[in-house]
Amino acid sequence: MLDYVSLEADLDQEERMIRDTAREFVEENVKPDVGEHFEEGTFPTEVIPEMGELGFYAPNLEGYGLPGVSEKAYGLLMQELEACDSGLRSMASVQGALVMYPIYAYGSEEQKERWLPDLGTGEAVGCFGLTEPEHGSNPSGMETRAEREGDEYVLNGSKTWITNSPISDVAVVWARDHSAEDDPVRGFLVETDRDGVTTNEIGEKLSLRASVTGEIGLQNVRIPKENVLPDVEGMKGPLSCLTQARYGIAWGAVGAARDCFETARDYATDREQFGGPIARFQLQQEKLAEMATQITTAQLLAHRLAELKERGDMRPQHVSMAKRNNVRMARDQARVAREMLGGNGITTDYPPMRHMANMETVYTYEGTHDIHTLVLGEDLTGIAAYE
Ligand code: FAD
Repeated sequence: MLDYVSLEADLDQEERMIRDTAREFVEENVKPDVGEHFEEGTFPTEVIPEMGELGFYAPNLEGYGLPGVSEKAYGLLMQELEACDSGLRSMASVQGALVMYPIYAYGSEEQKERWLPDLGTGEAVGCFGLTEPEHGSNPSGMETRAEREGDEYVLNGSKTWITNSPISDVAVVWARDHSAEDDPVRGFLVETDRDGVTTNEIGEKLSLRASVTGEIGLQNVRIPKENVLPDVEGMKGPLSCLTQARYGIAWGAVGAARDCFETARDYATDREQFGGPIARFQLQQEKLAEMATQITTAQLLAHRLAELKERGDMRPQHVSMAKRNNVRMARDQARVAREMLGGNGITTDYPPMRHMANMETVYTYEGTHDIHTLVLGEDLTGIAAYE
């Protein structure tokens, strides 16, 4: 596997073990059928508890059955999952960074005990409801509302583009609390079997096909007041979760690009045209050289991000830079790899076009490329250009 500047040499034993476990798991259990799942538009749900058993959900958290592995180990895990498919990494990202993390960071003791062990093992599945039909890049405009009535909250609104909502047991729904002053955004744990909750699947996707995406409809949904996340208010709640998930994406995208590179290199050395392997042509070598260089620089950024996160110095803007760069890199390089495979490159027999299609989603979700550009622009100039 491409590791041009020997980053592997700096991994500790646990990090190697987690990376190898994830690599073997996807090779044996997911890769053989992932092309078919992509074609069918299905997620291999049978791997959800298997991934839990292997500790793939939020292993960087500690307690409640979670081991608290290093941030680098967590990143390597995301890299291996996405080297298989972005849908698989999305499953782990949503479950770990967008559902378990907010419960862990902002939940009550009862909420932690109720959900973290089950989510950790994959016995329960969660989703994260932030985006709404009219509010994507600007989620603070959200219209979903919660009203306090006695010991309950009543929720109304709709969320869309929600990864895993149709297969979830619980949704972390971000809504404006209209019973408090200034309608602050708060997080609500909504069990999906409650009256008034609907989770229709969104079909016709041409990207992230091996992943279940849906809506969350909330019509007079009553939840006990104990289901509100007590320790966070305002956009800091959802945004801090997104920082965690985007960290994993910055790593994951490198995995997808690496898989494209490995496929293209193998193909170029095997495939013969004009009396020899196409890898002997300078045009093909230039593509491989550029791909390897881009992947290596993205790897370096991800590894540095892990160091900053580990010592508490990682800022959301650092994550914006890494997510923005690494996903763009993967999107571009997947296309080059596709090209190197000629006609075979457009099939699901080979991964580059699947990764290429997936990257359109990854480029757009968790803050679009444009929005991360604006985050960096504001950080560099002190002037916000969002409106
Ligand atoms: P819009 O916000 O309408 O943006 C459209 C275009 O305008 C983009 O190119 C954008 O960059 C650009 N734009 C917007 N504002 C500006 C600006 N100020 N300056 C310049 N350009 C701008 N959301 C969740 O809450 N939970 C999930 O689990 C989840 N999973 C997803 C899974 C998939 C497969 C997809 C496709 C999306 C998912 N999302 C999820 C939603 C995702 O986060 C949003 O699609 C994303 O935030 C963009 O919002 P939007 O689609 O409404 O696009």
